[in-house]
Amino acid sequence: MKLDTSAIPAVAARERIDPGKLEQLVLSGSAVLMGRDEKNRIAIGKGLRTKVNVNLGTSPLSCDEAEELEKVDVARRYGGDTVSDCSTAGDIDALRRSIISRAGMPVTTIPVYQAVAAAGSFEGTTDGHILATIKKHVKDGAASVVIHAGFSLESLRSLKGSGRIMGIVSKGGSMTAAISLSQGRENPFAALFDDILALLEGTGVVLNLGNAMRSGCVHDLKDEPQLQEIHANARLAARANECGVQAVIEGLGGHVNAKDLKGWIEEHNRITGNRPLFVAGPLPTEVGLGYDHISAAIGGAMAAGYGADYLCAITPAEHLGLPNAAHVREGVVAARIAAHVGDSMKYGLGTYYEDDKLLALGRSKKDWHAQFAHAIDPDAAKSVHPDEGKECSMCGKYCAIAIMRKYGLDSTFDV
Ligand code: SF4
Repeated sequence: MKLDTSAIPAVAARERIDPGKLEQLVLSGSAVLMGRDEKNRIAIGKGLRTKVNVNLGTSPLSCDEAEELEKVDVARRYGGDTVSDCSTAGDIDALRRSIISRAGMPVTTIPVYQAVAAAGSFEGTTDGHILATIKKHVKDGAASVVIHAGFSLESLRSLKGSGRIMGIVSKGGSMTAAISLSQGRENPFAALFDDILALLEGTGVVLNLGNAMRSGCVHDLKDEPQLQEIHANARLAARANECGVQAVIEGLGGHVNAKDLKGWIEEHNRITGNRPLFVAGPLPTEVGLGYDHISAAIGGAMAAGYGADYLCAITPAEHLGLPNAAHVREGVVAARIAAHVGDSMKYGLGTYYEDDKLLALGRSKKDWHAQFAHAIDPDAAKSVHPDEGKECSMCGKYCAIAIMRKYGLDSTFDV
């Protein structure tokens, strides 16, 4: 792939990877550089720390722009790597610009949302609406745009009578499908693909190839429409790379039986030629409703460990309502734990597990300050143990660490 690689040394230093190795990953399409602002640019993909995206944005039933900006702050405070503006209501343009200027990290947008909102209907959404929206998002500084170009009218029709419990559960995918079905035309993003590449070429904007056909519950197993979409997205990513446009492929989002995750991810990576794999979830169970951030973290940790590169934070409000800022915090922290556990499966305890060792050392010395300093969410830890001078109330005078110290069997770790 022909690409400006001048940013690689700085990004490689932040990613703690050899610059030559990062360049090779980026030029082969196995990793992308994401971010229009060089200070905040990151790399996502194979051989790199697993990243976490945080969704936020207004909906027609819940449109508090100040709270969406609060979610941006929460995403940054608790270690999200990117945010996605999924707004579909209010002053979408103004909010997007505020999010981009406030985030301090790469921001992804999903142009079909605003294209449909601007047109007022699926039937009335034209190529002009779609291209004008993408152009505006690129101009405003979006680091990445999501399109659902990997399915055809025929694969939509094949969903009828397919026996799925859930049909299409991707919002952008369902909106793209509705444009296609209501107008009796092929997927507009597939039809406009070359025009979209022309808009992105030379901008540094990453193309995120969305996953419309993902399964919406664990009983909806891998099927032909899903496989067709992965193959189509792999071809589109290759074409994008030929034009110097970097691509991430979204896959396996939604809901997948835990026992199928390893094989599914290996198959996905094989089909796509190891392009960066973004997953939303996957949720390995339905019955955690109200705690879907935990279900997603379990699935996300496994997915990352088996080869996914980029997780989407899922909140406790998933499937129930638009999350508030507190929900987003829980979702980000859960996803970061999942990504971190996945990294230990991929890379062992070397590069990314120094904090774990230092936290354990602090714990062995009952040094609360050291433990808070290395925790993903020190605020949560401090809220349980607010007074650093006090003993932990769990065991009191029967504290195992204190007892072992008395007999000289406490930590002998040599720093
Ligand atoms: S009191 Fe119990 S839980 Fe608390 S630090 Fe000591 S051993 Fe651990």
